[in-house]
Amino acid sequence: ESKRGGPGGFRVFHDGLAARSNRVLQLEQGLQRAIGRGEVSVHYQPVMALTGDRAGQAVGAEALLRWHSAELGPVRPDEFIPVAEAAGLIGALGDWVLDQALTDLGDWMAAGHVPADFHVAVNVSAHQLCADLPDRVARQLARHRMPAANLGLEVTESAVLNRSTAPEALRRLHELGVTLLLDDFGTGYSSLSQLQELPFDVVKVDRSFVAGMNRHPRSRALVLAVLSLAESFGMSVVAEGVEDEEQAESLRAAGCPRVQGYFFARPAPVAEFLANLPGTAAVPAPVPVR
Ligand code: C2E
Ligand code: MG
Ligand code: MG
Ligand code: MG
Repeated sequence: ESKRGGPGGFRVFHDGLAARSNRVLQLEQGLQRAIGRGEVSVHYQPVMALTGDRAGQAVGAEALLRWHSAELGPVRPDEFIPVAEAAGLIGALGDWVLDQALTDLGDWMAAGHVPADFHVAVNVSAHQLCADLPDRVARQLARHRMPAANLGLEVTESAVLNRSTAPEALRRLHELGVTLLLDDFGTGYSSLSQLQELPFDVVKVDRSFVAGMNRHPRSRALVLAVLSLAESFGMSVVAEGVEDEEQAESLRAAGCPRVQGYFFARPAPVAEFLANLPGTAAVPAPVPVR
């Protein structure tokens, strides 16, 4: 007698598992060759100033990895990043993204497409937050002759809490002068005061709270609380996932300094990103929120 409930039950279970692991296997094999085959690229989404004298202008961008597999077609980061992490491939992908982002940013600066203090933020996985990350970042910055102040690294709270090596890596990155952003804030279990001991410069409010801001009093309360706590801790705030004018206006009224979202621009390949960069010569500034 099998504990699995007989041969029939086992079959169903087994087939489901086989299909899932087959997909994972395909993703893993595909990812191993993705860089060499030129299947990966970086898209950029502008970060907009909402307050201050640069309101309505793009002050930076987030670099977002894209993978178009020859066999599997386009695969979303939410699916392939965890596979890359589990397969030990995130280090190589992360290095590639950083290299590409610094190359692109250098090009934009040289061509005068962006101001000298424009920053690009790259996402970093928990697995990358180990002892050698600060040196790798420092080497890349030197190779690209890029000031650390122009680079941001986005880390989620779960990444910070799940890696014992994270606080030291973050401290050394901060010493380099890199901007550290706490990504997807509000979705984890940490409190801002817990995280205050870490050298974060910017809190990114998760888009789920922005989406609910004008419908759910609790979402609005969370956004307002993050804004006021961040200010008292000397951190800046970026609200993510702003999809409509009402959300943008609420955030502006609440004093949120920076925003990102489909309402302003979707992540796009370099040429499209530059052509639609708000507040630049190509695109007349601002989408004046109010
Ligand atoms: P994230 O870092 O929180 O990035 C923001 C995600 O929200 C992106 O999804 C972006 O396309 C999407 N987004 C931006 N504005 C809006 C909006 O107004 N509405 C909605 N619904 N979504 C919006 P994407 O590009 O699919 O990336 C998903 C996640 O994958 C990222 O979340 C990040 O955690 C991870 N990721 C992406 N690129 C990299 C990378 O190079 N390295 C690592 N380690 N992770 C990456
Ligand atoms: Mg991010
Ligand atoms: Mg995020
Ligand atoms: Mg995310």
